[in-house]
Amino acid sequence: MSKVADNNENMANCICGECPSKNQDDTEFYCAKGKSPMHVRRRGCVCNDCRNWRNYGLSNGYYCDEGVTE
Ligand code: SF4
Ligand code: SF4
Repeated sequence: MSKVADNNENMANCICGECPSKNQDDTEFYCAKGKSPMHVRRRGCVCNDCRNWRNYGLSNGYYCDEGVTE
């Protein structure tokens, strides 16, 4: 289970929408919700600029592609 609590406050912190890898038709907040059902073209990950990443001591990224592994 993810360290990141699946709540509205954390969801509002998610900056996946600013990420070059994000498919604009897709959802976000993958660190809590799990990976995307869509194909991800990796063009960088901005998770390490996210408040949740800091607050929860995350160390990976690409949660859209890999799911939650921490
Ligand atoms: S760590 Fe990444 S997936 Fe999780 S809320 Fe932040 S930007 Fe979104
Ligand atoms: S999890 Fe990382 S790579 Fe995926 S959309 Fe969010 S910021 Fe971008």
